[in-house]
Amino acid sequence: MKILVTGGAGFVGSHLCKKLIESGNEVVCVDNFYTGRKENINDLVENDKFELIEHDIIDPLTVDNLDQVYNLACPASPPHYQKDPIFTAKTSFVGSLNLLELAKKNNARILQASTSEVYGDPKIHPQPETYWGNVNPVGIRACYDEGKRCAETLFFDYHRKYDTDIRVVRIFNTYGPNMDPRDGRVVSNFITQALKNEDLTIYGDGSQTRSFQFIDDLVEGMILMMNNKKEFIGPVNMGNPDEFTVKELAEKVLAMIPESQSKIIFEDLPQDDPKQRKPDIALAKEKLDWEPKMKLEKGLIKTIDYFRKII
Ligand code: NAD
Ligand code: UDP
Repeated sequence: MKILVTGGAGFVGSHLCKKLIESGNEVVCVDNFYTGRKENINDLVENDKFELIEHDIIDPLTVDNLDQVYNLACPASPPHYQKDPIFTAKTSFVGSLNLLELAKKNNARILQASTSEVYGDPKIHPQPETYWGNVNPVGIRACYDEGKRCAETLFFDYHRKYDTDIRVVRIFNTYGPNMDPRDGRVVSNFITQALKNEDLTIYGDGSQTRSFQFIDDLVEGMILMMNNKKEFIGPVNMGNPDEFTVKELAEKVLAMIPESQSKIIFEDLPQDDPKQRKPDIALAKEKLDWEPKMKLEKGLIKTIDYFRKII
């Protein structure tokens, strides 16, 4: 199959491209390197089944003979998506529109990498796909949250109006190798801080919770979702339901890097930071026979090994 992956030089996209190539597919990676890194795809660029197109998905693009499209292009960490919020909103809305048009022309199936952020600061716990969420539409996270919500809307309207073959996956916090050390998300921050003997910065009192999924589990789930024959289009949650407070995560990371001189410090909690987050994955289990396998400790060992090598 010929498969387009937007955001293919980013954290998730680079793992996805690698897996798709290993399975014998031809992969076209589209990325503008806003947060993506050449290092993530160094191993792939020599492969003649891999093509890199440096392009911003806010501008329309033409690629022929596509069978599938994975739309992952979008800055994903709060500091990165808040740096230029209008670019982030445009990437989600105009970018998705361009990709949907491309999929329509190619008669290709298209999967949207949506997010648990569509649930905002959730009032229902854990979050099932039927929950409509609690998002502040004018807050500093809205460029991402509302952008992704609007992208989901576009996907479903293309499906209803043009019968476009869509899939929508709502991804919960994911971590692993190929994360940028400057990414700013909690797992990469805590590990890089501990390795550099800098203090671990907990925002707020650390009682907020997240559920951390290892990258390999997500990639497996996304490919299953894309290829499911049951015409199950989603949206479907993909995440690991094991829930931890941010303070527990900091303590775990410090315990796993015993030589670290770092201490834990507390900083202000950013505006609209969700207090809790945990996926209900019953639908993914039922429809795709999928559930994550990697426990947090094991995934953290692999991630710490990766950061040790690159720092
Ligand atoms: P990332 O920042 O590492 O990767 C995003 C990639 O998209 C980068 O390579 C970046 O250069 C590229 N990109 C951004 N805007 C672009 C544009 N306008 N045109 C072309 N390329 C552009 O982030 P990630 O963690 O790999 O996330 C990938 C996708 O998964 C994102 O859509 C994100 O919203 C979604 N997601 C990720 C998580 C997670 O925990 N990693 C959680 C929920 C959703
Ligand atoms: N966080 C933190 N210290 C950091 C980075 C993040 O305490 O150095 C907190 C952040 O406030 C949030 C949680 O960790 O409550 C997860 O943040 P992240 O940016 O990884 O993802 P989010 O789930 O908020 O999109």
